[in-house]
Amino acid sequence: THFGFQTVPEEVKEEKVYEVFSNVAEKYDLMNDVMSGGIHRLWKDYFMERLGPVSGTKLIDVAGGTGDIAFRFLSYLDNMEESDSDSISDGEVTDEIGKYPRHDVLQQSSVTVCDINQAMLDVGKKRAEALGHTHSVSWLKGNAECLPIADNSYDAYTIAFGIRNTTHIDKVLREAYRVLKPGGRFMCLEFSEVTSGVLRKLYDEYSFQVIPVMGKVVAGDWDSYQYLVESIRKFPKQEEFAKMIREAGFRAVHYENLMMGIAAIHSGFKL
Ligand code: SAM
Repeated sequence: THFGFQTVPEEVKEEKVYEVFSNVAEKYDLMNDVMSGGIHRLWKDYFMERLGPVSGTKLIDVAGGTGDIAFRFLSYLDNMEESDSDSISDGEVTDEIGKYPRHDVLQQSSVTVCDINQAMLDVGKKRAEALGHTHSVSWLKGNAECLPIADNSYDAYTIAFGIRNTTHIDKVLREAYRVLKPGGRFMCLEFSEVTSGVLRKLYDEYSFQVIPVMGKVVAGDWDSYQYLVESIRKFPKQEEFAKMIREAGFRAVHYENLMMGIAAIHSGFKL
């Protein structure tokens, strides 16, 4: 291949992945929209609905990149607050935007975005400023395989389109288990195996033929997008990944296919 990723030994995968995301960081959000026709937004919205955070939820979003999941977490809680406030009478203290009273929902909840790549985090921070989320998100540079976080720290751990980029999936899962509090939930959104033969054929054509070309045209980078396509093919299928999650210690593990398995949501609890 152009990037030689299929033959790249495991020891240098981390380095190569770092290079890929440093190259694409500035164009990452645009490319996601272009490549998926905006569908990644719907998947991420749905992912957050499935997590269903409540007031006080402490979330860590690993391989969180430019903050898509973190911002959805905050909007979800914000909307919850907005609808709660419908029943509140006039005269209560409102936040500076003045739209609705600010309870404790957002104050008690928090999200940490952890990513190995500073360039991705920097884009995320700029987005947070533009969205006015500066106080509600913390940004942490760290490797999913050895998180710089104490045991039993979070209520929820999410990882979206990130785990396939790591070198040792088993280590990532063990770390997820370690940093979650007892009762905490692990949720992963990732590309997976397409279940319909016809769709798989179309999807393969699309991803191998079209995505690297789009990468070249939109982001000026063929190789990074070629890598992204290859990494999807190599990631374990739904059942196999569910088994790995169980092996890391999680219970009540299940998964749900999105668009016939183009992506899947896996979930498990530290019980
Ligand atoms: N979660 C974001 C989203 O859904 O838009 C970003 C996903 S992006 C495809 C993958 C991210 O994983 C990149 O930001 C990359 O830097 C990060 N990543 C890759 N390997 C990692 C590792 N070992 N630890 C933490 N982050 C990693």
